[in-house]
Amino acid sequence: MTAARATQVAATIRADIQAMTAYPVGHALDAIKLDAMECPYPLPDHVRDEIAQAARDAALNRYPGGDLTALHAQLRTAFGIPDAASVMCGNGSDELIHLIVQACCEPGDVVLSPAPSFVYFEMAARFDHARYVGVPLTADLTLDLPAMLDAIATHRPKVVFLAMPNNPTGGSWAPDDVAAIIAAAPGLVVIDEAYQPFTDHTWMPQVLDFDNVVVMRTVSKIGLAGLRFGYVAGDAAWIGAFDKIRPPYNIGVLTQAVLQVVLSHKAVLDAQAAQLRADRAPLAEALAALPGTTVYPSAGNFLLVRFSGTLDGNTIHRSLKARRILVRNFEHSHPLLADCLRISIGTPDENAALLAALKDLLKA
Ligand SMILES: *Cc1c(COP(=O)(O)O)cnc(C)c1O
Repeated sequence: MTAARATQVAATIRADIQAMTAYPVGHALDAIKLDAMECPYPLPDHVRDEIAQAARDAALNRYPGGDLTALHAQLRTAFGIPDAASVMCGNGSDELIHLIVQACCEPGDVVLSPAPSFVYFEMAARFDHARYVGVPLTADLTLDLPAMLDAIATHRPKVVFLAMPNNPTGGSWAPDDVAAIIAAAPGLVVIDEAYQPFTDHTWMPQVLDFDNVVVMRTVSKIGLAGLRFGYVAGDAAWIGAFDKIRPPYNIGVLTQAVLQVVLSHKAVLDAQAAQLRADRAPLAEALAALPGTTVYPSAGNFLLVRFSGTLDGNTIHRSLKARRILVRNFEHSHPLLADCLRISIGTPDENAALLAALKDLLKA
């Protein structure tokens, strides 16, 4: 790049964007991939064949049709969205997070969430000129309700994001605590249920019981991370406002076609989620039995583990990577996550390979 062009970029791109690094996306071709909460199981052949047919028949020469009634009806049935709630679809819930912040926040308005939580809440807030406030969890990584209520009173957030179960800690917050936050919040509370399929609790049936709540979900963690599809449900007044700023063709014809096929086989997704959920407790126990580990209770398809024995989190992360096992490291992240690694639940073979590698590293 020429010096003149560098100067032009520096003078033109927002200073805060120049200071940022892009969201880290891994390139893992030949590794055991336990770093991004993806479902490790592929779709069965008969579903893939149907997808191939649906893709073949999709009208790629046309813009996606505006009538999503059929897709919405399928979503309602598949995911238990109340009949009276409105639904809006997004290109992953990441897009929905942006749209919600953009629709609610004037520059400088506050977006608040417990911290550490999903990093994209903070990123979207920054990109969209809002001010992000993260309210630290307790030392044992649970919700600090008094601190949340204090921060809500002080900062009067336009939007509160509550990921339940929480990423990256895995915990979920007590319904009474959440109700207290909803009652105290002067603006919108977005309940992000990305990991709901791995737990029993959901706020979806109650979404219309409150004036200031919407529930957001994604299909990324249940086998369709590559598709990029999420949805938000709530009262028509909220959803209609978000819909005004939605890019008109944000869900492509292929996404719609594939999703409609896969949702007609929803039992396949449910069985995969049930398998991961069943494998969670045995993996947690085995990890907890290693020397120097703390495994935090998880209601998601992942486990957060703190390593405080002979090797620190970074060393273990690097050593696992050298053995072609990828997990998520939180170096340079939130101080509460020091020496923590987040490990997605894999197939039984992948989980066994992870445990064998850790036993070897920790000489257990
Ligand atoms: C993974 C994750 C998402 C991202 O969803 P996409 O639909 O893949 O954009 C949203 N919220 C939380 C809490 C997540 O962990």
